[in-house]
Amino acid sequence: MVIDSLTGLLTEACQAPSPNHDERPAGCVPELIVIHNISLPPGEFGGDYINQLFTNTLNKDEHPFFAEICHLKVASHLLIRRDGEIVQYVPFHLRAFHAGVSIYRGRSRCNDFSIGIELEGSDFTPFTEPQYLQLTKVIEALCAHYPSLSKQQITGHQQIAPERKTDPGPFFDWLGLGQALGVSLPAVAQLEPEPDNLDPTDSDQRSCS
Ligand SMILES: [Zn+2]
Repeated sequence: MVIDSLTGLLTEACQAPSPNHDERPAGCVPELIVIHNISLPPGEFGGDYINQLFTNTLNKDEHPFFAEICHLKVASHLLIRRDGEIVQYVPFHLRAFHAGVSIYRGRSRCNDFSIGIELEGSDFTPFTEPQYLQLTKVIEALCAHYPSLSKQQITGHQQIAPERKTDPGPFFDWLGLGQALGVSLPAVAQLEPEPDNLDPTDSDQRSCS
């Protein structure tokens, strides 16, 4: 897999340019890879609805859920479909609007310094082997092209926005991805709440019981 230095585009990807991006803030480079899942309508695979959402052309009349989301100005850098096909919406050097309010290791506004990769899927379904194969190749290519990225700096949307987001969800195989990349992914450990993040209500109940 090859990334074109001039355009920031993956040559193997199908291109579907999205307006939902801007420049990264001065001094910000890609340092983090964020994994998501998406399916439209939720739980249904195939079709063109994800492309439409990310290019602001989703028709709210085609499904009740679309009325809730068609106003959103969002896009990831990449989508990996169930069959492994890759679609690119935003060049990697630009800031895509994929993570929203988020924090990674104390640093907020993850869009500023991350690359967002959506897997077509849901929180309730295993991802496919072609998706893992392509994801691994994409991460290898990104880390080779952008020295600021690292295979250790990969996380999930649910880890950086735990109050709002649940993707990529319990079926995402962090262990397998780490093995494929030859690293132990910190994101695996982050699935367990750290002591600082424990709900204070929980602690109170425990100390009272
Ligand atoms: Zn997400």
